[in-house]
Amino acid sequence: MGEEQKEQGSSSDPIRSEEAWKESLSPEAFRVLRQNGTERPFSSQFHQVGESGIFNCQGCGTELFKSEAQFDSGCGWPSFDRAAQPDNIVERLDRTHGMTRIEVRCKSCDGHLGHLFPDGPTDTGQRYCINGVCLQLNNDES
Ligand SMILES: [Zn+2]
Repeated sequence: MGEEQKEQGSSSDPIRSEEAWKESLSPEAFRVLRQNGTERPFSSQFHQVGESGIFNCQGCGTELFKSEAQFDSGCGWPSFDRAAQPDNIVERLDRTHGMTRIEVRCKSCDGHLGHLFPDGPTDTGQRYCINGVCLQLNNDES
């Protein structure tokens, strides 16, 4: 399969093989994004509100969250009260670990991002608790 790959480097490939993900992601990002892992709390450079910009998916570059939506939750992970583009993420029921939670995934690459909790302190009432290793900050003014 795939003998005639004329369009090399096409960025619209919907799904990569796990091997390709392993090569393109850091070991920690691979573990979280592709294996539903969780980074250690307070380990991310983004766990507190810092620089402003847009947080894109580490796996595929899709726009996920904006810094305006970020707040300090104290939980040790980057927290947002809304998605930048609701269509870019998928929310689904997660019943693992004996809990019922809402899992948040990137719609484009199906990477695991974190969880959504209904206890946010802002007017949306939502808390997207996201692994910072899944995010890359783009703060270029364009
Ligand atoms: Zn993605």
